[in-house]
Amino acid sequence: MSKIYWSPGLDQLEPYTPGEQPKSETLIKLNTNENPYPASPEALRLLEQHDFADALRRYPDPESCELRRAIADKHNLSAEQVFVGNGSDEVLALSFYSFFRRSEPLLFPDITYSFYPVYCQLFNIKSRTVPLHGDFSIQLEDYAAPAAGVIIPNPNAPTGRYLPLEQIEQLLRSQPERVVVIDEAYIDFGGESAATLIDRYPNLLVIHTLSKSYALAGLRLGFAMGQKHLIEGLLRAKNSFNSYPIDAIAQRVATAAIRDTAWHSDNCGKVIATRERCERALTDLGFEVIPSQANFLLAKPPEPGAEALYLALRERNILVRYFNKPRISEYLRISIGTDEEMEQLIRNCKEILASQS
Ligand code: PMP
Repeated sequence: MSKIYWSPGLDQLEPYTPGEQPKSETLIKLNTNENPYPASPEALRLLEQHDFADALRRYPDPESCELRRAIADKHNLSAEQVFVGNGSDEVLALSFYSFFRRSEPLLFPDITYSFYPVYCQLFNIKSRTVPLHGDFSIQLEDYAAPAAGVIIPNPNAPTGRYLPLEQIEQLLRSQPERVVVIDEAYIDFGGESAATLIDRYPNLLVIHTLSKSYALAGLRLGFAMGQKHLIEGLLRAKNSFNSYPIDAIAQRVATAAIRDTAWHSDNCGKVIATRERCERALTDLGFEVIPSQANFLLAKPPEPGAEALYLALRERNILVRYFNKPRISEYLRISIGTDEEMEQLIRNCKEILASQS
């Protein structure tokens, strides 16, 4: 009944469903690719020591100048090549709006971040999904067609598969007239960022988040890097929607986190080492594990299969992600937690599998 007040088409939107955020503290939560460790102590100390009264009384810097400078310094860019947003989801949304509303379809893999089709619906963007090959690899020839642009996560989500920079360059060369967005939410866990290609490719936009490798998912901070003309396009869209998407506290905490490069590389190293141990342990249990350069593993369990194992783990207070979707319904996506959490996961998987045989 109340839908009579809605704009036409709103009831047709199928919103994105984020992974569950249960209230229980005792749960081992391996379902949303969060970082298991606390963020940089430099960043957290700011929250304890700083008196934010004045900063909160005023509007924040609408251009997030210091934060953009810190990101630019880290990636050898200039501040005008950096755009920041309220989580990379917001940066993605503004990118879709700014670059992909065209007569041709936007191309992205059939198995990928499931927010992309939602933005297409929201902004009326035509899209064409390109099937991943049987081993979940991306074949670049498939993307050399007339298109509104291309978006791929690298590493891809939820597969974890990574494309080396030469292949990203091939993709950029195949779409010189259109923007190619590389969503690098997970790049810090073993990949090489395409940010180094920005000066050579006017069509490249690289998007990062502080939610994964910086352990700041609750802060909501994402950023895009690209040549100035792309950043200007994003600013135009952002300033037509929300002038102050990054609050004063987030700007300061994120700046400190980005500048703490020692904490960041140490943290990524720990997550990578745990991932490698976990991959071996799952393989030993008979899982088929897709090679991952991210902070999660996509793995196909043996009998009783993915859904039954997901439910059995849940009963034991361990939460992983099960996607009831074509092609990946036989797999579980398991975020990398601490060593202790992963040991508990492995021990419980072993018990559940043994009880089935
Ligand atoms: N891109 C990919 C591929 C992701 O998996 C996620 C996390 N769900 C995001 C972007 C969004 O991350 P955030 O909005 O927390 O920055």
